Amino acid sequence: ESVIVAIDGPSGTGKSSTSKAVAAKLGLSYLDTGAQYRAITWWMISNGVDVSDAGAIAAVAAKPVIVSGTDPSRPTITVDGVDASGPIRTEEVTSRVSAVSAVPEVRALITELQRTIARGAEHGIVVEGRDIGTTVLPDADLKIFLTASPEARAARRSGELKGADVRATQEALVKRDAADSSRKTSPLAKADDAVEVDTTDLTLDQVIECVVTLVDE
Ligand code: C5P
Repeated sequence: ESVIVAIDGPSGTGKSSTSKAVAAKLGLSYLDTGAQYRAITWWMISNGVDVSDAGAIAAVAAKPVIVSGTDPSRPTITVDGVDASGPIRTEEVTSRVSAVSAVPEVRALITELQRTIARGAEHGIVVEGRDIGTTVLPDADLKIFLTASPEARAARRSGELKGADVRATQEALVKRDAADSSRKTSPLAKADDAVEVDTTDLTLDQVIECVVTLVDE
């Protein structure tokens, strides 16, 4: 039978690494919902849409065709058939994505896309994001909410960005999480029935083991 796992939490808590590894171990599909919001943000910037104008974003939100490949060993994302995996990780997209993802029309479209992908996953799926347990898949079999201290999160992100300034990274992270937590439509939040895992003092392997054990229970 198919199992649906929702993994939410702020950035830098190890969501992506954990979700991919858990999916691979259990033979499940994997969906990075942040990559979808990044992809639509990249399309908006590339097409000259004023990303500080919610009305302008809403008016064209249905135009880009976003396709996610759900193999955890090589997740992919395309926009209108073009590989977007590189461009969606740029500083420019990262600094704009919270504004774009706060637009209700964008969330409605992307949420529908996520539900379609989850329904279509034959053996089940691990879906990572901010509002998966609360809004996208409230009936998920298991909901995990990952947390970590701001210092640990910034250090992990700086490591990923290879030498980026830790303090600047921490400030940008805190700002993005504050924006994601305070928006009106489906903010970053822990579902009442989610299991909270504080990853501050855990290795990645320990977090993976913890989630796999919870799935097996
Ligand atoms: O996970 P990642 O850091 O790539 O997510 C990028 C951004 O996408 C988040 O900061 C947030 O604004 C948005 N997002 C969201 N809802 C999700 C996943 C991501 O609003 N389920």
